[in-house]
Amino acid sequence: MSDIKNVTVLGTGVLGSQIAYQTAYSGFAVTAYDISDEILAKAKERFEGLASTYQADGVAGAADGKADAALTRIAYSSDLAAAVADADLVIEAIPEVLALKQETYEQLGKVAPAKTIFATNSSTLLPSDLKDFTGRPAKFLALHFANQVWKFNTAEVMGTADTDPAVFDEVVAFAGEIGMVPIPIHKEKAGYVLNSLLVPFLNAGYALAAGGYAEPKDIDNVWRIATGAPMGPFQITDIIGLTTPYNILSNAGAEAKPLADWIKTNYIDKGKLGVATGEGFYSY
Ligand code: NAD
Repeated sequence: MSDIKNVTVLGTGVLGSQIAYQTAYSGFAVTAYDISDEILAKAKERFEGLASTYQADGVAGAADGKADAALTRIAYSSDLAAAVADADLVIEAIPEVLALKQETYEQLGKVAPAKTIFATNSSTLLPSDLKDFTGRPAKFLALHFANQVWKFNTAEVMGTADTDPAVFDEVVAFAGEIGMVPIPIHKEKAGYVLNSLLVPFLNAGYALAAGGYAEPKDIDNVWRIATGAPMGPFQITDIIGLTTPYNILSNAGAEAKPLADWIKTNYIDKGKLGVATGEGFYSY
């Protein structure tokens, strides 16, 4: 069992709100921090929405009062020092902008108590990019969740060479306590396990379709029928939303550019962004 009791989540956007709510749902005292009270008012609505989603999705106990009880365990603050004053763990889920994260860790390192462990949920940055700004590299690591934490419940735990192994183990234990399947990663790897597998897989699918070798639906069919997997690359992309793979490909050098252009011209420019807009590679 971990010694973690009080958890502060920085950023109440898509992932931060899910992480905060799931942590509260698991019985922890949570403080949700964001940059303004207006944004925190929206966060409250997001948490209420998550309480309904947990019930609709049949998460164990949600309909028996647990979903509403979780809401009572979340406190709100737009004052960083107050938000972390008694935090055992801070989970950072602010925008994926290096300078913003570095600046935030510099401020956080100054105001958080010595006991506090810092974890970043960054998808694409390495914890090494941030550790020197924390003022406590031994107590800093990555704890990476997947979108829709209540059902896609992996938590990849990845430290730097400076992370104290006891802190690493503590965060692995905590991840289990909030209902995640902890995935220890032994050394730093951009993309963790999930995106190291997923990104090349999706790109291979795009290259087949963009190269005119086969239709997206047939590529998905091959993958599903021949491997027994539930979804092919284009079904997965529709769920992620086409903008994220487009952004990744746009920043991946000259070789990836034709694939980025193919997604943009044929789908994004036509408003086909995936499930969220009712149409992507498929119609919904
Ligand atoms: P988001 O844009 O939905 O939310 C970011 C939140 O951070 C907003 O509420 C914003 O007001 C707040 N914020 C901005 N500046 C801040 C600051 N200085 N201090 C505190 N809060 C601040 O972003 P997101 O999609 O939730 O992503 C957040 C992090 O989670 C990123 O590092 C991203 O890589 C990672 N992540 C995202 C996903 C995903 O599917 N969206 C999955 C895994 C990890």
